[in-house]
Amino acid sequence: MNQEFYDQIMQTVGSGSVKLKEAMKKHTTFRVGGPADYFITPHTIQEMQQTIRICNDCKIPYYILGNGSNLLVSDTGYRGAVIQVFQNLDEIRVQGTSIAAQAGVLLSRLAKRALEEGLGGLEFAAGIPGTVGGASVMNAGAYGGELKDVCTSVTMLTPQGELKVLTREEMEFGYRTSAVAKVHGVVVETEFELTPREPELIRGQMEKLQKARSEKQPLEYPSAGSTFKRPEGYFAGKLIMDAGLRGCRVGDAQVSEKHCGFVINRGNATASQIMQLIRHIQAEVKEQFGVTLETEVKTLGCFEGVD
Ligand SMILES: Cc1cc2nc3c(=O)[nH]c(=O)nc-3n(C[C@H](O)[C@H](O)[C@H](O)COP(=O)(O)OP(=O)(O)OC[C@H]3O[C@@H](n4cnc5c(N)ncnc54)[C@H](O)[C@@H]3O)c2cc1C
Repeated sequence: MNQEFYDQIMQTVGSGSVKLKEAMKKHTTFRVGGPADYFITPHTIQEMQQTIRICNDCKIPYYILGNGSNLLVSDTGYRGAVIQVFQNLDEIRVQGTSIAAQAGVLLSRLAKRALEEGLGGLEFAAGIPGTVGGASVMNAGAYGGELKDVCTSVTMLTPQGELKVLTREEMEFGYRTSAVAKVHGVVVETEFELTPREPELIRGQMEKLQKARSEKQPLEYPSAGSTFKRPEGYFAGKLIMDAGLRGCRVGDAQVSEKHCGFVINRGNATASQIMQLIRHIQAEVKEQFGVTLETEVKTLGCFEGVD
């Protein structure tokens, strides 16, 4: 342990908000992942800013965590500081048709608030189990909607810890990516412009999409959602099914039988088994159809020796 780093972080966030050797399986929807050396939960944007500066000064690598719903952490964990945004930075402010939400707010909570305000545009996001921060960086999307459609600006911290506001254009949203991802910034707040809509219509749309999700997706098992990005001109799930991989297992990691685009944890999967299965799927799909499947799921830690 780096005592100087630890002491400075403790002074910044308080003793209850920094843990040592925290098991990442507790913080990812895959329910796998070894220990992070330091696990820090800053309460405010200022604390977040200070935490990043201390990491830089002490040369401790850091990784930003939202709700861990798109993340595979290795079994050996992470030799650095995981900075968790979810649980804190959870303010929502509404002004007319504009909503500003801090990065730790869950999309489901934000969508519910928009519904209460009679504001439409976030119906697509209600069933995505991520935070505003994670969704902004990833340009999360579902059922024809994407975060970029309703986002007007994003406030981020640069890797040097400076606050910067990016307009929608400056965010350079792409398929599951954005400018913040490219510069390794930290989203602290996102502003949305919504449209007045009858709450009953909003509720109906959300319920319809949620029903479609639970019918088609293996929500009963831990996963990180769609494991792969959609390759141009194809659907990842269909390619995987056509490759004969439905139900394929490595230990407790399995290609979902309900939706082949999801790798699920049947109970006791390790990160290494999940990664072996991902690599097997990629190799089979490449060999049989010549298509490269890129992971949508982010990885953290070392997966050396997994093939
Ligand atoms: C059952 C299920 C269904 C899903 N359905 C969808 C879907 O329909 N559409 C979709 O797009 N995704 C879906 N996902 C994936 C996931 O929920 C989204 O990608 C979500 O946006 C990730 O948010 P998070 O807060 O969990 O991010 P995390 O998983 O914690 O992090 C993901 C990435 O974002 C970075 N990050 C997180 N917060 C910040 C921040 N504040 N600043 C900078 N970087 C940050 C992390 O470093 C990491 O690289 C699904 C996942 C599950 C488990």
